[in-house]
Amino acid sequence: MRILLVEDDALLGDGAKAGLAQAGFAVDWVKDGVAAELALKTTDYAAVVLDLGLPRLSGLELLRRARAAGDKVPVLILTARDAVEDRIKGLDSGADDYLVKPFDLHELAARLRALVRRSGGEAAPMLRVGELELDPAAHRAQFRGAPVELAGREFALLHAFMRNAGRVMSREQLAERLYAWGEEVESNAIDVHVHHLRRKLSPGTIRTVRGVGYLMPRETDA
Ligand code: CA
Repeated sequence: MRILLVEDDALLGDGAKAGLAQAGFAVDWVKDGVAAELALKTTDYAAVVLDLGLPRLSGLELLRRARAAGDKVPVLILTARDAVEDRIKGLDSGADDYLVKPFDLHELAARLRALVRRSGGEAAPMLRVGELELDPAAHRAQFRGAPVELAGREFALLHAFMRNAGRVMSREQLAERLYAWGEEVESNAIDVHVHHLRRKLSPGTIRTVRGVGYLMPRETDA
């Protein structure tokens, strides 16, 4: 899942980016409000981690503009310990959750998973499609009751397919969910990961839709 991290503090941003990457998120990190606004307009994020005190455009103003423009992306705001007022304004301006600095990286990752889950209309932390089960928090997948060993990107790709079961996904849409800016992406990377997933699961788990992309049927019948 791809996350936008908006934080002007170098140390905090660096730590958050590393922690979220460790938890399996692809993270784009920007350090001011204007860059964040541009990123939101051009990229489809699963969630946003937003500091409120930012150069060029405040987090609060950015949030208001995004909501006014109809952007529904889940937003978690970061605030200072004594800034109750900021948290209230943030939540009233369209934030979905908040964390007080300094925060625990595991808690940040868990809150993001919860936000993303709820925004997708999923109540349970466990995803199920046909005979597939995926636990995003524990980073575990099962097929027909047996654990499946997946590399990081394979897991992220399977997660993307399961969240979008029944929908045809283009290679570009899939790549956008898997890779952050600046990450080297081979032109056939998605095809290679799909090939590995089919081998580890079953060929019918992911169907090729010629000229368009791939589809995971809601009920895997293979
Ligand atoms: Ca700041």
